[in-house]
Amino acid sequence: MKDTVAGLHKVFETGVTLSLAWRREQLGRMKRMITSHRKDLEEAIYLDLGKPAAETALMEIKLILDEIKFLEPRIERWSGRHHVAMPLLMQPARSWTIAEPKGVVLVISPWNYPLMLSLEPMVDAIAAGNCVCLKPSELSPNTSALLQRLIGEYLDPRAFAVVQGAVPETTELLKQSFDHIFYTGNGRVGSIVMEAAAKQLTPITLELGGKSPVFVDASANLGVAAGRIAWGRFTNAGQTCVAPDYVLTTPELVEPLAQKISAFTRKFFGDNPAQSASYGRIVNTKQFDRLAKLLPANGKTFSGGETDREHLYIAPTILTDVRTDDPVMQEEIFGPILPILAVHNTREAVTFINKRPKPLALYVFTRSKETRMLFERHTCSGALGFNLPLGHLLSSRLPFGGIGASGMGSYHGKAGFLEFSHVKTVTSKPTFPDTLRLAYPPYSARVSLLAGDFHPTTRHLHFRNPTGR
Ligand code: NAD
Repeated sequence: MKDTVAGLHKVFETGVTLSLAWRREQLGRMKRMITSHRKDLEEAIYLDLGKPAAETALMEIKLILDEIKFLEPRIERWSGRHHVAMPLLMQPARSWTIAEPKGVVLVISPWNYPLMLSLEPMVDAIAAGNCVCLKPSELSPNTSALLQRLIGEYLDPRAFAVVQGAVPETTELLKQSFDHIFYTGNGRVGSIVMEAAAKQLTPITLELGGKSPVFVDASANLGVAAGRIAWGRFTNAGQTCVAPDYVLTTPELVEPLAQKISAFTRKFFGDNPAQSASYGRIVNTKQFDRLAKLLPANGKTFSGGETDREHLYIAPTILTDVRTDDPVMQEEIFGPILPILAVHNTREAVTFINKRPKPLALYVFTRSKETRMLFERHTCSGALGFNLPLGHLLSSRLPFGGIGASGMGSYHGKAGFLEFSHVKTVTSKPTFPDTLRLAYPPYSARVSLLAGDFHPTTRHLHFRNPTGR
């Protein structure tokens, strides 16, 4: 591992990754790798997660290809010089910034979108001119093995490495020296990564999770809200970081909303979702058992609730009459369970959300301008979606990331390019005329004038005798 990382540093030092042609070439190769092995990738993800191929195509493959398409023509502009004016005091002089690659970056990815969450950060890192060491998740072994093979085959083998493994391997990897660490996963491991990075003062991005709330008010179009919430929650069997985690709504809407969401699950997946080709599975028995414990034993299930451990199946489940101290409200659900809780009004919903850790995403279904403004200005989350769950994830033009417990830093598009870049300030002053001499000591009224003091004489006296005595 030490040799692998040291090798990447050596390659970075040669400057090969600085070339824009090299970066474009790697992005082009990645595009070919994905399009030529589309079926293999969909199959590997299906084997790991039971994820329908259409979901892989829409929510993983398309996003990576879109990101390449968005970044490729912009690399030159973003990495080139951006001139800025120097203050009068320094004139004549010029200054500009350039975005330079950080160096060798480590990308640690999770299992739930094992392709997109490995390759989309890589696309941003490549566009910025870095070498990348990828550590995919051990919990999606088919995808991780395929990625290792394909990256070795398609991308410049000098500049990219894939290290497979679980906790011991990642722990060892984190002892190596990197110029940036990009971690996606849960917050507990996020703090382990941050602690390891702190030892070497390595900058990090943490893409974490948590509970992403939804608020539906009385003005909302309930039918549209129900369909979109159901889509956001039950895609990938609920194992999406920005999926709606729970719904808050006013007491009279709990039942009708639950009914409508439940009706949408039947439209999406039929009367028996276990037989639907559009419905995914839970990743493994550990996650299955964790989720099964969140299902109430006391009859609060509004719809769904069926489970089949052997086939890692949990039906799309809606819970009503949920209390805030129920297990399902104590942790990120990350599965196909949706609790709906009553709040008396919009203010109470805002207070409820603001009392809890800052979410990765917050969704509000309303037609009221005041409600929109209240949420926009008085809540804090990685992203805020009005009438639209998951939408921000799908655009390369929008930064994607969390805040506080849901993460730090962001990526996608320009945000991602900058996350993997160091924006360096460059200044340049001609040696003639040597105007800087005006600022040299010994200090006099001239310096006060330069500092913008229009009472040079008194200021000058102050300089010499600040106590006034
Ligand atoms: P995971 O178990 O696959 O872990 C993620 C990565 O961390 C893996 O590569 C794993 O090997 C590594 N890891 C695990 N334990 C480690 C340790 N002790 N030391 C060092 N590395 C370790 O995935 P997960 O954490 O179960 O993923 C689900 C979580 O990720 C959820 O909380 C979800 O919300 C969050 N998530 C966030 C985003 C986002 O973009 N913000 C995206 C997907 C998932």
